[in-house]
This record gives sequence, structure tokens and C-alpha cells, in this order.
Amino acid sequence: MRRGSVEVICGSMFSGKTEELIRRLSRAERARRRVQAFKPRIDDRYDPARIVSHAALAIDAVAVATSESLAARVEPLTDVVGIDEAQFFDRDIVTVVDALANRGVRVVVAGLDQDYLGRPFPPMPDLMAIAEEVTKVRAVCTVCGEPASRSQRVVEAVGTVLVGGAGAYEARCRMCFEPREVPRAPYQP
Ligand code: ADP
Ligand code: MG
Ligand code: ZN
Repeated sequence: MRRGSVEVICGSMFSGKTEELIRRLSRAERARRRVQAFKPRIDDRYDPARIVSHAALAIDAVAVATSESLAARVEPLTDVVGIDEAQFFDRDIVTVVDALANRGVRVVVAGLDQDYLGRPFPPMPDLMAIAEEVTKVRAVCTVCGEPASRSQRVVEAVGTVLVGGAGAYEARCRMCFEPREVPRAPYQP
């Protein structure tokens, strides 16, 4: 009998969530467990077929558009399922993750626990609630150097396309975080 469980890795941008996810999945592969990794199709910042950290660590992954297609892609003999950027999935990801764990799969989920205004980022709070283990990782505050838990949106560039990732956000601690709505770009024909 396999023992299923849910592990959540969460924190701000640049906190090492993806690194920690890759570390756990690599260890499982080393232990000859069958591992499958997934990411939302929305997140194609680096490479659509792989999960890549800011420090360029990478692991093969399948990009899926919905939690339903993620569930459909999990093979019967898979021991460990990794999911990155879980905050970009629909709410049904909670049911999918729970069902996989009940079936004996070890599920490791990484994602942002807060949005750019510091608000809980659904469906991460629910995933944290059903998890056996929650790990909060922290980045380095770009202002003061203390451990950072918030993602500061730093682009206010008018009329410029926002691609996300480095340059658009930086890690900040609670003291240095300044949540604010970014003014919308004026209409440009
Ligand atoms: P996450 O998935 O949480 O966004 P990654 O695992 O992709 O984070 O990247 C973590 C890496 O980002 C670190 O090992 C470091 O090389 C780099 N990095 C860049 N800026 C920072 C920062 N402000 N604090 C910590 N790490 C940073
Ligand atoms: Mg990441
Ligand atoms: Zn700070």
C-alpha cells in the first residue's frame, strides 16, 4: 500500500519555491519513484515543456490548461506528482490533489501564497489547509536584506507589455512592502 500525502511549498516570488520543488522531485527520482511534474499552461515565461527556476535549475514537466487535464494526464503507476505555480490553477485543483493523495500519490505543490497586494492567492489557502505539510520559504528583501515574504510589483511603465518575472516584481519584507494598485496605462491606438 502506497501512502499518499500533500506537501505545499509557498512564499513570495524569488523565495526558492521552484528550487525546493525540483529538489524534492529529483530526490524522489533518485529513489526510483515514478515522478510526473506539471505546470499551468498560462506560465510559459521560460520553457513550455519544463519547470525552470530563476537560477536556471530545470525539470521536465507537462503544461496543462486545467486541473481536469492535469488529473487526466497522471499515469496509474505514478508515485509522485509535482505541481508548480499552483496559484494559476482553477479551484478544482484542490479536489484533484486531494483525490490523488487519497489514491496513494505523494503530491508536492508549489505556489505563491500572496498576490501583489499581499492578499491570499486562491486556491493556495485551500491547498495549505488540506496538506500534511506546509513549508514557507522566503526570499531576500531587495530593499533591506531581511527575509522577504511579499512580492512587490515594481513596473508602472505606461504602454509597455508586462511579461512578469524578474523586472516586474521584486521580493520585499513586510516593512518594505508597499501594496498599491498600479495605474492603468492610458489608451493607445
Ligand atoms: P520562486 O519559484 O519562489 O520564484 P526560484 O526557485 O525560481 O524562486 O528562484 C530562487 C532563486 O532566485 C534563488 O536561488 C536566487 O538565485 C534567485 N534570486 C533572485 N532574486 C532573489 C531575491 N531577492 N531573494 C532570493 N533569491 C533571489
Ligand atoms: Mg517558481
Ligand atoms: Zn525589507
